[in-house]
Amino acid sequence: MNDTDLKKLIIIGAGFAGLRALYRLDPYRRHFAITVVDRHDYSLERPALPEVAMENKPVEGVHIPTPPQFKKHGAAFEQGEVSRIDPKAQKVILEGGKELDYDYLIIASGAVKDYDAIKGYREHGYSVCDDNEAKRLHERLKSFEGGAIVTGAARSEFGHRVEAPDLKAPCEGPIGEVMFMMDHRLRDEGKREKSSISVFSPSEIFFEDVGDNARNPVAKLMEERGITLSTGKELTEITADKVLFADGSSMPCDLAIIIPPYKAPKYIAESGLGDDRGWVPTDRNMKHLDYDNIYAIGDINALAQPKLGHVAINQADVAVAAIARAEGLSDKAIPFNPEVFCIMNMGGHEAILIYSNALYGGKYDMAWHSSIAKLMKLSFDAEYHYTHGHMPPDFAVEMLEDLLRHFGKAK
Ligand SMILES: Cc1cc2nc3c(=O)[nH]c(=O)nc-3n(C[C@H](O)[C@H](O)[C@H](O)COP(=O)(O)OP(=O)(O)OC[C@H]3O[C@@H](n4cnc5c(N)ncnc54)[C@H](O)[C@@H]3O)c2cc1C
Repeated sequence: MNDTDLKKLIIIGAGFAGLRALYRLDPYRRHFAITVVDRHDYSLERPALPEVAMENKPVEGVHIPTPPQFKKHGAAFEQGEVSRIDPKAQKVILEGGKELDYDYLIIASGAVKDYDAIKGYREHGYSVCDDNEAKRLHERLKSFEGGAIVTGAARSEFGHRVEAPDLKAPCEGPIGEVMFMMDHRLRDEGKREKSSISVFSPSEIFFEDVGDNARNPVAKLMEERGITLSTGKELTEITADKVLFADGSSMPCDLAIIIPPYKAPKYIAESGLGDDRGWVPTDRNMKHLDYDNIYAIGDINALAQPKLGHVAINQADVAVAAIARAEGLSDKAIPFNPEVFCIMNMGGHEAILIYSNALYGGKYDMAWHSSIAKLMKLSFDAEYHYTHGHMPPDFAVEMLEDLLRHFGKAK
């Protein structure tokens, strides 16, 4: 094939979803001229951010340098900010005006964490959702002498063009990590007695996306460790000494650690590609509902609920398989299977592995609290980092899932 015959494929975003799509395109490399566009020349390993904030992990340890990987996988790299897509002319437009043509586009630019939507956040609030925020929290903890800690997710809003669960908090796992890791840290420092840890959720059920078999063990651990829970609380404001909620109530607070509302990036709506809330609506092959050559994967996709790396990876596999089919390169289809799988770090030697093979709890629904789960988390983080964003091999993932299904049958 001449270079001019190659199909131009652009991936916007090199996070969990974009990197996975690039790696899954390897067998079809001779058919596509691939360009990855990202504002950074590294991929941010978000699941390891709580360790940056609370366990002294250096921030460089959560940055995966990407240009060498793009080169290795035969892709060109454009470092820049995407400001618009022209879906009719099939162009991606960068800030500064540069235009890139595509035959296929994979949008994998994630969700915006809207810290400014919460009044007082910039002065008094903290988070673990981005590298700068994790570093800020790390600095704050150095002088924290104990007190009232409040942690929870703010409410996010989603559109109605596709049928997806309407979760008020699309990712509460990091809150699980914050509450247990802070509990551990404060005990370690001898400050737990003079501290309280209060958790809030905008939903009526904390960890709404899984079933009772996964949720109840977490609730039991919270009770044992004196961590309290309030549900149905929509955060509106953080002040120097309290957090305020939409129902008029408030909680005393010396340290607020929150997940801000997730929102879709503006350029999606401005390009006419978003649903009524700006998220990208796709079918279950991740193909845009209005454009056959545009795919969306990861947190930006309206079907991605909850918004998890595990779901992003599955969506990348589904989209690449669909593009290969569309080009007659393969007849393999991969089903969209949004299961919940995450390992929550609890500090020290503890972690809790949560697995539900369907949202709200499926046939398999479990939580496994053990030091082996912690070992798995550390091994996954190290593997992901040192292999530059590769997941463990497929056979290892399949074996693990078999094991989880064996032990995780819902009662
Ligand atoms: C603290 C925390 C802990 C988590 N823990 C887990 C966990 O244990 N397990 C799990 O499965 N999930 C976890 N998640 C969720 C997981 O991290 C996300 O679901 C995942 O990162 C989404 O991947 P993505 O590729 O869609 O987006 P992102 O990872 O956000 O990547 C998007 C990429 O697009 C680029 N980009 C964005 N906009 C533009 C633009 N306009 N122009 C150019 N480039 C752009 C960004 O630079 C970035 O590289 C956690 C999330 C957080 C915040």
